[in-house]
Amino acid sequence: MKITVIGSGYVGLVTGTCLAETGYNVCCLDVDPRKIEILQSGGIPIFEPGLEDMVKRNVAAGRLHFTTDVAESVAFGEVQFIAVGTPPDEDGSADLQYVLAAARNIARHMTDYRVVVDKSTVPVGTADKVRAAIADELAQRGADLPFSVVSNPEFLKEGAAIDDFMRPDRVVIGVDDERGAEIMRRLYKPFQRNHERVLLMDVRSAELTKYAANAMLATRISFMNELANLAETMGADIEQVRLGMGSDPRIGYHFLYPGVGYGGSCFPKDVKALVQTAKENGHTLRVLTAVEEANEVQKLRLVEKVVSRFGEDLSGRRFALWGLAFKPNTDDMREAPSRVIAEELTRRGATIAAFDPVAAHEAQRVMTGIAGIDFVDGMMKALQGADALLIVTEWKMFRAPDFDAIKQCLKQPLIFDGRNMYDPAWLREQGFDYHAIGR
Ligand code: NAD
Repeated sequence: MKITVIGSGYVGLVTGTCLAETGYNVCCLDVDPRKIEILQSGGIPIFEPGLEDMVKRNVAAGRLHFTTDVAESVAFGEVQFIAVGTPPDEDGSADLQYVLAAARNIARHMTDYRVVVDKSTVPVGTADKVRAAIADELAQRGADLPFSVVSNPEFLKEGAAIDDFMRPDRVVIGVDDERGAEIMRRLYKPFQRNHERVLLMDVRSAELTKYAANAMLATRISFMNELANLAETMGADIEQVRLGMGSDPRIGYHFLYPGVGYGGSCFPKDVKALVQTAKENGHTLRVLTAVEEANEVQKLRLVEKVVSRFGEDLSGRRFALWGLAFKPNTDDMREAPSRVIAEELTRRGATIAAFDPVAAHEAQRVMTGIAGIDFVDGMMKALQGADALLIVTEWKMFRAPDFDAIKQCLKQPLIFDGRNMYDPAWLREQGFDYHAIGR
């Protein structure tokens, strides 16, 4: 089976590469010539563990190639995955211009049957819009060609994307016609060798499933963040509470970590988009509206703690920031809480020495507007002469640092930990003034 993937970002590149890994012939398209140049010269434009080697292996085997040529990519695959961005529009709804542009490109160049698969996260009803766009383009060409439109939302997590794609918990396929369903079932066969993981459903349910899953996860995070703030006031330890809650199998341990709020390219935009979809259809999603509000507040939680220690005016203060990416194992800076924290600290007059083992380069690009932030290339370097250490992303390398060295580098032994990485009692014994979330 020959497959085209449109959009070679986090989702498209992982999808294309993992499909090639199982033996399919894959063509990845992108409109960004810089990305395609990097890919064609043996590199990858993003950081994702294990991806670079897998790309190289499949390119060398002749199963994977990259292009900016739309006509070539449409001619190549019977199956055309659309994996382009769906950023939030001004009102929070998903901006579908890239998805619909990709669909129209397919229709302009196709000469026989195509399965058009929406892999991007798109609101309920998008498959109908994609179908209409393709039909319109075909009509303009005077062409009468068969095609299927399928919804196949992606559930991979950045940082563990390859494993998620190669061994998925489930593959959701929304399809309304048998020809498309048969091809999609066959396409995903290699990914479910020990048991059936494909959930076939109608298109609208598939589209809503993706938003429902992300909204649920975001809800768990905001719920825990609000409880953490209460625990702190009440003299309880949210980490103990978390263990007590999670041990109930109806609740489980996943996604109960309090912190500095969720970020990334998915939760913030998907929560907003679902709230907006509901609004447009006469519903108010009260719980999700609150989830988003709580998240905005939480992003400033660490700054509030800094302010209550140093006062409103932070002029002349310097802070070390460990971690910039929205979560570990990625260089993705979209909606990262570190951006809000850095903006607020510098707005109050502080300067920052920031360190991230992977995302520093991307952070430097997206944080150019923030004056007073230096990007340093070592975690201990960031501490030199700083008034305190702030931990924003829970990279593994921060789990067991040399606390004696930290003490020597900082002006005073003061840590604001936005990820609850350390044992408060032990740190206090070591002479640290330690502030975490909800304990
Ligand atoms: P991304 O920004 O990393 O990649 C999108 C790519 O599409 C870009 O390289 C862009 O240049 C390209 N593009 C845009 N228009 C194009 C066109 N007409 N033809 C060809 N290429 C085009 O985005 P992403 O993180 O990969 O997300 C893609 C979609 O998948 C989004 O809808 C997102 O919500 C969803 N998703 C993302 C994740 C994640 O963890 N990143 C997980 C699940 C789902």
